[in-house]
Amino acid sequence: MTRVYNFSAGPAILPEPVLKKAASELPEYGSTGMSVMEMSHRSKVYQEIFDRAETGLRGLLNIPSNYHVLFLQGGAHLQFDMVPLNLFAKNKKCDMIHTGTWTKRAKDAAEKFGTVNLVASSEDKNFSYIPKTDPSKFSADADYFYICSNNTIEGTRYAEFPDTGNVPLIADMSSEILSTPLDVNRFGLIFAGAQKNVGPAGVTIAIIRDELAGHALSVTPTMLDYRVHIKERSMYNTPPTYGIYMAMLVFDWIKEQGGLAAMEEKNKKKAAILYNFLDSSSLFKGTAAREDRSIMNIPFLTGSDELDSEFIKSAEKQGLLNLAGHRSVGGMRASIYNAMPSEGVSRLVDFMKKFETEHK
Ligand code: PMP
Repeated sequence: MTRVYNFSAGPAILPEPVLKKAASELPEYGSTGMSVMEMSHRSKVYQEIFDRAETGLRGLLNIPSNYHVLFLQGGAHLQFDMVPLNLFAKNKKCDMIHTGTWTKRAKDAAEKFGTVNLVASSEDKNFSYIPKTDPSKFSADADYFYICSNNTIEGTRYAEFPDTGNVPLIADMSSEILSTPLDVNRFGLIFAGAQKNVGPAGVTIAIIRDELAGHALSVTPTMLDYRVHIKERSMYNTPPTYGIYMAMLVFDWIKEQGGLAAMEEKNKKKAAILYNFLDSSSLFKGTAAREDRSIMNIPFLTGSDELDSEFIKSAEKQGLLNLAGHRSVGGMRASIYNAMPSEGVSRLVDFMKKFETEHK
């Protein structure tokens, strides 16, 4: 098999050693006589897998003991509902920085249950930057303050997180979790869909500070109450058992790579290969403001829809796949998550150079 370079935003490339390990263990895990997929989630052997996944994640992110780690389902979208349902505990009000498609979804979901105060937005320039904030606009009585830390579609990320004082900061980290070290203490709740840096689609990670759970609105369905999942350690119902096992293997792999500091160094170098070329290219242009550029998702374009689609098609023939931008914005986007090797980015840049020469 020839493995392609898959630049998809998610589900996305996974580390090859993880896929091989999973393949070798697929029919039989250890000497259990069965696949992980066939195991009861209540069995001792599965509990060990689950514990290793949780311990792995806690180790990588240095998660303090007053934070719970949950492995849920429903994707980041369900978190858009769970966050307001659980955290609109006092004034049914939150502050939010609006940075693109995914904060729009979060805003629409939260507005069903309370008031969303947009303290800043980058909508005026197509969400191509992270807006500066004026703390005097922050609501002291907000139940929480919401951001999307890495904007997968727009290719922006926070160089610095806002200081929200006593108001808990909540972050959708779907497309950058585990790409860099993180001070979890800065946040009340972090959530992320797995299908980028963690594993296959179907698992959603939530990391929540203990005091924030247990105050859900009375209409909150049982399955959407963080406290229920905390109490049952993500096993109130059947969890996505195989996805959690895959996440466990990915956590092991990241640790073997040297952990998050090493991951960040590699990711920055990979992103620099593409950004350096974009900055010098006469054909391709990056769309995100330089100081806010993501190191995970890099959107770019030529300025011509025809050339963009020709580029995407020709790249595909070279084994450089899924370079089309999100359907809402067009152009191109290279998602270069942890598992994308540096050679993949170099191959992409070599191909862009060739394409540029041919289209002068
Ligand atoms: N938030 C971000 C930052 C995302 O990138 C995505 C998906 N690409 C979502 C939310 C939505 O995720 P899901 O499809 O898992 O609900």
